Amino acid sequence: MPSELLRFTHADRVLEFLRGQRRPFSAYEILEALRQDGVTAATTVYRALDKLHEAGQVHRIESLNAWTVCCKPNHSDPSVFEICDFCACS
Ligand SMILES: [Zn+2]
Repeated sequence: MPSELLRFTHADRVLEFLRGQRRPFSAYEILEALRQDGVTAATTVYRALDKLHEAGQVHRIESLNAWTVCCKPNHSDPSVFEICDFCACS
């Protein structure tokens, strides 16, 4: 199998991280969580999030300035989130 097929990208790391969370995370929270995995710059996280967003894998929740994983990638309907004012969970 070609090595590029086995390559784990920063976007893969960000997506895997978000899939394991129960709340939206800001880009800087993602950066702090993934520093130990070699993600060391905010621009890297933003590029990964842009790529994932274009691929329909994540959503940005603007009111929280945070990102969450899409539970049904590439859906055609707009997404709606309920945000609790008490705990900020979506
Ligand atoms: Zn979605």
